Amino acid sequence: MPATPPASASALPSLDRLLRLPALSTLIDRHGRSHVTRLLRTHLQALREHIGNGQLSAVHLQQAIEGPALVAALDALLAADARLDLQPMFNLTGTVLHTNLGRALLPNAAVQAVTRAMTAPVDLEFDITRGRRGDRDARVQALLCELTGAEAATVVNNNAAAVLLLLNSLANRREVVVSRGELVEIGGAFRIPDVMRSAGARLLEVGTTNRTHPADFASAIGARTALLMEVHASNYAITGFTAKVGTAAMAAIAHEHGLPLVVDLGSGSLCDLAMFGLPHEPTVQETLAAGADLVSFSGDKLLGGPQAGIIAGRADLIARINRNPLKRALRMDKMGLAALEAVLALYREPELLVQRLPTLRTLARAQQDIDAQAQRLLQPMRAALAPGYTLEPALMHSQIGSGAQPQAQLASAGLRITSTRRGGLDRLARQLRQLPQPVLGRIADDALWLDLRCLQPDDEAGFLSQWNALQA
Ligand SMILES: *Cc1c(COP(=O)(O)O)cnc(C)c1O
Repeated sequence: MPATPPASASALPSLDRLLRLPALSTLIDRHGRSHVTRLLRTHLQALREHIGNGQLSAVHLQQAIEGPALVAALDALLAADARLDLQPMFNLTGTVLHTNLGRALLPNAAVQAVTRAMTAPVDLEFDITRGRRGDRDARVQALLCELTGAEAATVVNNNAAAVLLLLNSLANRREVVVSRGELVEIGGAFRIPDVMRSAGARLLEVGTTNRTHPADFASAIGARTALLMEVHASNYAITGFTAKVGTAAMAAIAHEHGLPLVVDLGSGSLCDLAMFGLPHEPTVQETLAAGADLVSFSGDKLLGGPQAGIIAGRADLIARINRNPLKRALRMDKMGLAALEAVLALYREPELLVQRLPTLRTLARAQQDIDAQAQRLLQPMRAALAPGYTLEPALMHSQIGSGAQPQAQLASAGLRITSTRRGGLDRLARQLRQLPQPVLGRIADDALWLDLRCLQPDDEAGFLSQWNALQA
């Protein structure tokens, strides 16, 4: 209970009177009268609730509506508003392409291309040579054909849109044959059977969860079949007693019946991951060479670009897709196109790719290099940690993320924090998320793991200086 008499709502000054307080004039100059009015209203409402609950004494209310206290309260509300912007974070989860953290980081070339597209008129749909309307996908299509060997290509907002668009364009009111082992759900609302339904296509499941044979496909094909579809097992693995038909054999069956084979590759890499010591993942080029008529994949997974859905393959099928009105609804915006073009252009110089493309550079980082970073950070980080916590360097495994090779483990290194107190790790994880640039690690096996693979050397100093603020 307040020691002094409780405040009464009638003691609250009017909004107009508060807006005239000299103390607020700087805030009004900086943020405008309407924004400050909105914040004041929010603040007065909070005070009214405290009064209603009997939580505020008359003396405290008097202090709360004086200039300095008001300014402090409004500053806090402004800071909360600023937190609604997308905030940079430190991704120390060990998952390189983290969907919740925005997946691929873009190279400088793409950032510059996006800035140009945002700040000046650009020839997005204009043919400068001929002086007339041009095709917005022409540049990106030329690059994709050059890099993948495809006849044609088209791009949309993301790979989910690409799959929806191609099914709707090629299989509306007809059947699509898919193996039961590939009816996947990709985080949240993307499930192959649901997308199929939304696209107006009828799903014909064949085989079993663990084994599907060529004869399963061949015997399922009928008069209503539009195409055969292969979905890359991107976020799971079926192991043990298994059989799958494979792209080349599926293509042979499809072509025997005059049908196209469509492959949803998911991550869809354009370069061989074996060069990072990872298991080989079928590339877009290989999948097309194996006989796929269309391949779809994401722009912001292993490709290392912006959010996009790319479809590459046979020119006649791409033309049908481009004629679908849905293409217009799902098309990419100029910022995404600018970034995608810039990223694809880097693939023309494959020897320099690992240096230039942040996703590949991060995936390629050697354990030794990451471990050396852990050793550098060890002492200063220990110094700022509260008593009761132990921090030590540790070897660990990172993942590619975004469903690429879920079982592949990248040898990595970082720091392992343990706590002698109950709930200590959760408390520390929360404190780390409350830092100016929130730090996200991973709690497992009674430890908080900070995988340093994604901590870029340029960001090390910034990371340390805010780590030092932990104690405060
Ligand atoms: C990730 C993925 C998708 C969805 O791609 P988005 O670009 O996230 O829309 C679809 N299919 C597969 C197999 C995937 O791995």
